[in-house]
Amino acid sequence: MSENVIIIGSGPAGLTAALYAARANLNPLLVSGNEFGGQIALTNEVENYPGFPDGITGPELTELMKQQAEKFGARFETDHVSKVNFQAHPFTLETENGAHYEAKSVIIATGASPRRLGVPGEMELTGRGVSYCATCDGFFFRGKEVAVIGGGDSALQEGLFLTRFATQVHIVHRRDELRAQPILQERARENSKINFVWNSVVEDIRGNGTVNALDLKNVRTGNKSELPVSGVFVYIGHYPNTDLFKGQLDMNEEGYLSVDERLHTKIPGVFAAGEAHDHIFKQAIVSAGFGCMAAMEVEKFLADLEHQGYAALQNGSR
Ligand SMILES: Cc1cc2nc3c(=O)[nH]c(=O)nc-3n(C[C@H](O)[C@H](O)[C@H](O)COP(=O)(O)OP(=O)(O)OC[C@H]3O[C@@H](n4cnc5c(N)ncnc54)[C@H](O)[C@@H]3O)c2cc1C
Repeated sequence: MSENVIIIGSGPAGLTAALYAARANLNPLLVSGNEFGGQIALTNEVENYPGFPDGITGPELTELMKQQAEKFGARFETDHVSKVNFQAHPFTLETENGAHYEAKSVIIATGASPRRLGVPGEMELTGRGVSYCATCDGFFFRGKEVAVIGGGDSALQEGLFLTRFATQVHIVHRRDELRAQPILQERARENSKINFVWNSVVEDIRGNGTVNALDLKNVRTGNKSELPVSGVFVYIGHYPNTDLFKGQLDMNEEGYLSVDERLHTKIPGVFAAGEAHDHIFKQAIVSAGFGCMAAMEVEKFLADLEHQGYAALQNGSR
C-alpha cells in the first residue's frame, strides 16, 4: 500500500506539514530523523515564535507541534531515511532501521545541520567540551569559562543562555562587528559575563580528554594567543541535509534544493519545505510556513493524481 504522503524530517517544517496534511485527511506518515524537533529543539529560548508571549523552549514547542499533528491523525516513525527513488511512481524510501515505504507524494523537510570549524581537536573533543547545543550541554559548564564561536543570532542567543551557568562566556568572532539582531547585540553587550574576542579565528582546540584551551589567531595582526576554556560552543552556520537527493533533484552549489514558488521540485509529487531549500530566512516560523504550503500543494497534487494519473502530471510539468 502506498502512503499518500511521507514527510521526511521533524523540524518546524515537517511538523507543520504533518498538521496540515492530517487536517486534510491525508493520514500522513512523518519519518522524524535522528534529531526530533530539528534545530529549534537545540535552543532553550524561543522568543519570536508567535503565540508565546513569555517565550518557550525549543523542545516544548516541537513537542506541542507533534501533539497537535497527532491529534488530527498524523503518524510518526523515529527513523532516518537512507535512500529514496523518485525515478518511478509511486516513490520508494528506505530507512536505517530497514523499513521500505512506497509513497504517492513526499515532502522533504530535512533542514540543515551545524557547520563544523574543521580544526584539529574538534572531532576528538566533541561531547568532551566541544558542543553545538547550549541547551543540551550548558549545564555541564556550571562555574566554568566557555567560548562561543560565531557572530550571528544563534551565537549571541546561546552565549546569553550560557551565562546562566558559566562564569565567563568569550564570544570569538572573525570580524569586528556582529550579524545578530540589534536586540541580542544590546543584551550581550550589557551582560558583564560576556567578553568579545574580535577579529579572531580558532586554529586548534586543545585538551587531554576534555577541552582546556583554544589557540586563536587574530586575522588582522596575525598574532596568536591562547584562550583557556573548558567548553566551546560552535555557531558558525549550517549546511542543508540534502546529500540523499543528489542526482535526483536539482540543487544549488551549496546543496539547497531548487523549488518553484509552490515548493515543487522538478519531480511532480516531490516537494521541499524549510531549510532544505530556504537559504535566506532560516527562522522557525518561516519553515513552519513552508511546511503549511507544501502540505496544501500535496493535497492538490493527490487530487490531480486521482483524476489524471501520474503520466499526465509528468507531461504537464514538462
Ligand atoms: C541554536 C539555534 C537557535 C535557534 N533559535 C531560533 C529562534 O529563537 N527562533 C527562530 O525562529 N529560529 C531559531 N533557529 C532557527 C530554527 O531552528 C530553524 O530555522 C528551523 O529549525 C528550521 O526548520 P526545518 O524544519 O526547516 O529544519 P530543521 O529544524 O533543520 O529540521 C530538520 C529535520 O530533518 C531531520 N532529517 C534530516 N535528514 C533526515 C533524513 N535523512 N531522514 C529523516 N529525517 C531527517 C532532522 O533530524 C530534523 O528533525 C535556531 C537555530 C539554532 C541552531
